[in-house]
Amino acid sequence: MRKINKIIIHCSATPEGRPVSVKDIDRWHRERGFSEIGYHWVVYLDGSVHPGRSEDVAGAHTVGHNANSIGICYIGGVDKNMKAKDTRTAEQKMALHELVAKLKNKYPGTTVHGHNEFAAKACPSFNVQTEL
Ligand SMILES: [Zn+2]
Repeated sequence: MRKINKIIIHCSATPEGRPVSVKDIDRWHRERGFSEIGYHWVVYLDGSVHPGRSEDVAGAHTVGHNANSIGICYIGGVDKNMKAKDTRTAEQKMALHELVAKLKNKYPGTTVHGHNEFAAKACPSFNVQTEL
C-alpha cells in the first residue's frame, strides 16, 4: 500500500444541479489520456458516494501531489455560466464530512486540502480549511 498523507477535495466543474456519473468522468479523463478516472471517490448530488480509481493506485487529480493523496470529487462547483460556485447540496456536504472522517480514520495523520491550495484554480469552490 502506498503512503497516504493528504486528502484533496475537488469539484467536477459541471453546472449546478446537473447529474454527472463516475462513468462520465471516467470517459472525460480517458479522453484526456488518463488510464481511468483520476479521482478515488465521487460524491453525487444526492449525497451518495461512488468509488472511482482504487485507493491503492495513485490518482490523477493534483499535479505534484498525486503519489501520497486521495482525491475526492463532488459533482458541481460552477453555476450555469460556468462561474465558480459552491453548489454542494446539503446531502453532499454531509457525505463529504463523513467520507473525510472515514478516510482520516483509515489514514491517521492525514491532512485535508482543497485543490486550490496547490494550483491557481477555484476548485473546489469552497474553503476546505474552514469547513473540513
Ligand atoms: Zn480540482
